[in-house]
Amino acid sequence: MSAIQDIPLFNQSEIVSRYPHQPLKGQKALVTGANSGIGEGTARYLAAAGAAVVVNYVANPDAAVAIVEDIKAAGGTATSIQADVSKEDQVQAMFAQMMREFGTIDILVNNAGLQKDSPFETMTLDQWNLVLNVNLTGQFLCAREAVREFLRRGIKTDISCAAGKIICMSSVHEVIPWGGHVNYATSKGGVMLMMKSLAQEFAPKKIRVNSIGPGAIKTPINRSAWDIPEAEANLLKLIPYDRVGVAGDIGKAAVWLASDDSDYVTGTTLFVDGGMTLYPGFATGG
Ligand code: NAD
Repeated sequence: MSAIQDIPLFNQSEIVSRYPHQPLKGQKALVTGANSGIGEGTARYLAAAGAAVVVNYVANPDAAVAIVEDIKAAGGTATSIQADVSKEDQVQAMFAQMMREFGTIDILVNNAGLQKDSPFETMTLDQWNLVLNVNLTGQFLCAREAVREFLRRGIKTDISCAAGKIICMSSVHEVIPWGGHVNYATSKGGVMLMMKSLAQEFAPKKIRVNSIGPGAIKTPINRSAWDIPEAEANLLKLIPYDRVGVAGDIGKAAVWLASDDSDYVTGTTLFVDGGMTLYPGFATGG
């Protein structure tokens, strides 16, 4: 069995070199929960593709500042803003600060999320509420502020043919039930229909709303699922493509969903999961 690879470090200059055509040039993006994991990867890829990026964080400001400095050192534009996405006043203050510093928003990536796992019969109301408040209500609060600005500003054809783009970080667990994680799976199922309903409501206004459904991506949220060989071997049984994902896999997908290359795509979940949603148990069984 191969040795476990830890979470790979980013090389911002290498990411920038992937996007000489700068598909997000002139656009302003906000990525929530961007000082770690998938959010960090997404912020870095959007910045490399030309967007000015707000790196939102709720704790550990040093990590957010380090990411901002790294993006700037590679020629990009970024700033960090603290806000708890589950708090309406903090979300509104974050958007107000973004409007002051960047003038508008073109791309929202609703990424912040957490798990509070528990067998269902011992799950506390606090565990339930925290996960729903951050993973679902947080996405509602940020999406509402973004939509308000998209509607106010409208389309700027020199920037993008859409009036705005929202990318919701969902999960394979918007469709795969997950015992022991009922609060989390419920939050992602909610994200799916929030995303689709928003996409339906705002397509006539040229606002595109989509989700990314990551499979197993190496980040701090799921370290115990891959950080010892036995755990990684068990995880790989669920992944036909036979590797655990990395945040860059999601960052690349986010650039495409945020760019005009995906202009006819709205109301869909792009699963980036190495085939986890293909029911791999049926490859030989069933
Ligand atoms: P992570 O723990 O590395 O990152 C989560 C980020 O959200 C952190 O920066 C954290 O500080 C932030 N956050 C938590 N509560 C917040 C709040 N109230 N306000 C603002 N920020 C808050 O984990 P990750 O794996 O990078 O997760 C990112 C997203 O991807 C989550 O929505 C998660 O559900 C989703 N996801 C992850 C995986 C995976 O395998 N890692 C799979 C599917 C979906």
